[in-house]
Amino acid sequence: MARYTEAVCRKCRREGMKLFLKGERCLSPKCAIEKRNIIPGQHGHTKKGKLSEYGIQLREKQKLRGIYGVLEKQFENYYEKAVRQKGVTGENLIRLLERRLDNVIYRLGYALSRVEARQLVSHRHFKVNGRIVNIPSYLTKAGDEIEVIEKSKDIVPIKAAIEVCKERPLPAWLQRGDEVFKSRVIAEPTRENLDIVIDDSLITEYYSR
Ligand code: SF4
Repeated sequence: MARYTEAVCRKCRREGMKLFLKGERCLSPKCAIEKRNIIPGQHGHTKKGKLSEYGIQLREKQKLRGIYGVLEKQFENYYEKAVRQKGVTGENLIRLLERRLDNVIYRLGYALSRVEARQLVSHRHFKVNGRIVNIPSYLTKAGDEIEVIEKSKDIVPIKAAIEVCKERPLPAWLQRGDEVFKSRVIAEPTRENLDIVIDDSLITEYYSR
């Protein structure tokens, strides 16, 4: 499978915003955006020119793709799916990305970043509705029960994430069960309760050219 191998903080510097790809580090003063918010590369500090309309749309698309860590072709597939749905395409797109299992695991605080969540899902640490699911792109839906499997309750990344995220409020469309290792998707995510600072209309314009 194709994979992005560059230092991930460069992605944030390229977009000039935090994409939250490195867990706790992203919230610390060590974050590259805090320390050195310039475009990567030898001439990064001089690249301050005005972007064309196309450039602005492209960058917005790349930001959203970077946040969810989705490859180009897969992102296009999400967009096509969003177009076929009722409602505003840009919002549909973000809602689809938000429903990915790796994102839900991150939102539930079982992983410190979406990158980590993806790895944990691939390594079969979670059940959805009682069955192990190891597909990070699995699309969750309202009513799904998400659970850490019994033998994974003690593994370091999950324990550490739960400890770090315990004060973090859950999004309104997710709910913790009676015990911390069980949670539920109780509704579809809505654009209003998502903290994604992206102008989704620019992405629609990018694909409508
Ligand atoms: Fe981005 Fe996190 Fe790196 Fe900061 S620490 S630049 S938010 S990946």
